[in-house]
Amino acid sequence: MVDLKSQYEKIKTEVNAGIQEVIDTTAFIKGGKVIDFQHDLEKYLQVKHVIPVGNGTDALQIALMALCLKSGDEVIVPTFTFIATAEVAALLGLTPVVVDVDFETFNISIDALKKTITPRTKAIVPVHLFGQNANMEAILAIAKENNLYVVEDACQSIGSEFSFSDGKKCQSGTMGDIGCTSFFPSKNLGCFGDGGAIFTNNDELAAKMRSIANHGMEVRYYHDHVGVNSRLDSIQAAVLDVKLRHLDEYCNARRNAADYYDKVFSTTEKILIPARSSFSTHVFHQYTLKLIGVNRAELIKHLNDKGIPAMIYYPVPLHLQKAYQNSRYKAGDFPVAEKLCECVMSLPMHTELSNEQLEYITNSVMEFIKK
Ligand SMILES: *Cc1c(COP(=O)(O)O)cnc(C)c1O
Repeated sequence: MVDLKSQYEKIKTEVNAGIQEVIDTTAFIKGGKVIDFQHDLEKYLQVKHVIPVGNGTDALQIALMALCLKSGDEVIVPTFTFIATAEVAALLGLTPVVVDVDFETFNISIDALKKTITPRTKAIVPVHLFGQNANMEAILAIAKENNLYVVEDACQSIGSEFSFSDGKKCQSGTMGDIGCTSFFPSKNLGCFGDGGAIFTNNDELAAKMRSIANHGMEVRYYHDHVGVNSRLDSIQAAVLDVKLRHLDEYCNARRNAADYYDKVFSTTEKILIPARSSFSTHVFHQYTLKLIGVNRAELIKHLNDKGIPAMIYYPVPLHLQKAYQNSRYKAGDFPVAEKLCECVMSLPMHTELSNEQLEYITNSVMEFIKK
């Protein structure tokens, strides 16, 4: 699904020099590389504070910890997403409340969101799924009206830009109270291990989250909050600081691959290509198709037999996951997400796809579709 090896080959000299520098200085934790990367990312995103942490799940957890929510407070999450989004709310004793998504964009449905808000709702966690921003203008308006926090899950969407109706443009993850991202190797900005970051323009929240990520302390050995230990290490920061310089180029490479796929697949009614919304650029963390009247399992087998990976993101919506079953939800409650789980399929998507590879993949899909 990704080709991290070929990507590395192109930036090997820069990356190796950065890693070697960390080793030479032995500043493995909280070294200068972490501060450099933090500032470079703040500049790239045009956000006041970037707080580097251990991974994207920690970022989401620390964000929710900073909001002073109480047990049983409701946090709204889309039901079609990776589990981490709901998991952290559940872990903190909050109540994850799921909503359905939009069939076209895979992102949280604004109509469904409006209907789900109760007096106990305290926060909304929109997920910018597969690399395209959810409708943040609508979400921020709903949040304002109902006095809710917005924590963006931008783990798949770094580099994607949202356009507001007044012409203002913002980077993904910088519009809500807090934004979270992951630097897992296969993410759009990936390191060589685990990593993540939190974004905010709010000074108070930034100080609090920095403290929570560091055992709840500001002055060493004086603990003001119950915290966690979550850090980005210097070697990962060294890798990320190099890759950040290539992020726009990486986003373009992904978009070019998506354009190639789109062109071929838009010729058949059996495939719905990913919708591109008017208010957001797409950075194609995944290239996800909807199959109409196609045997998905057989198609995936056909592709696998030809050496082509294909994945289902995601096969089961949150409300039907075993660990999240409760009397609140049953099958049929969120028909759009349930339908998507049955018909989506993601193809290889990364920065190194050649036209030969794209041709081979698209030919192999079409060969099966036309049978
Ligand atoms: C990857 C991902 C996460 C978690 O990030 P980790 O770094 O793996 O903890 C959370 N939410 C979404 C939508 C993701 O894609």
